[in-house]
Amino acid sequence: MCNVFSAKIPKFGADNNTIAMKNVQLYDKSFKLYLTYEEILKAVDAVAQKINNDLKDEDDPIFLGVLTGSFMFFGDLMKRIEFPCEMCFIRLASYEGTSTSGSVKQMLGLTKSIRGRNVVVVEDIVDTGTTIMELDRILKDAGARSIRYSSLLIKPGNYRGSIKIDYPALSIPNDFIVGYGLDYDQLGRNLKDIYVLDVEETEKRKSINIR
Ligand code: 5GP
Ligand code: MG
Repeated sequence: MCNVFSAKIPKFGADNNTIAMKNVQLYDKSFKLYLTYEEILKAVDAVAQKINNDLKDEDDPIFLGVLTGSFMFFGDLMKRIEFPCEMCFIRLASYEGTSTSGSVKQMLGLTKSIRGRNVVVVEDIVDTGTTIMELDRILKDAGARSIRYSSLLIKPGNYRGSIKIDYPALSIPNDFIVGYGLDYDQLGRNLKDIYVLDVEETEKRKSINIR
């Protein structure tokens, strides 16, 4: 197997306090540290608090994780939800490499019926909005009573959708990021911190042919 990480991932401490790597290399692209796990968890805490306040008296809420990218956010968010709730998943895909393909494929249908249910969508990142617009259609067709949207990240500069994101954890510029569930061609999902594409370093390495 080719060595795709430029640095060895540090052992994960029991205190969750592992020092973040500053840079990672995934295939032909270089990435630099953008958000540490600690910063991410602060934002997840804030979103969980809002959801706990808003939904504590809601009838039968069900959290819908949008796979694959949201699995880390989903896990950390759900640990902070203080009322009884159900969970289910759907798997959608729209990205190819570092940009959206413009069409959304449903790779795995809803793992549970949501008919008549109050759904809270848990997304990894909202970019152009194509994915959540399609998801909204799927959930309405499936008979959801109400739909609320949470997303770990949102790129307001790219967003073209008409749906309000009720619970955005963090807003970021239009750059390509990986880590904490998000991938570059399926790599990088296991990084606990978030990294942003380092265009300069990627170009530099390309010009001297280092991978
Ligand atoms: P949208 O349909 O809103 O344009 O894009 C949403 C999906 O594209 C996300 O669920 C995610 O899978 C992918 N995506 C958007 N921006 C990024 C990014 O910066 N990095 C990664 N790894 N995926 C992204
Ligand atoms: Mg997603």
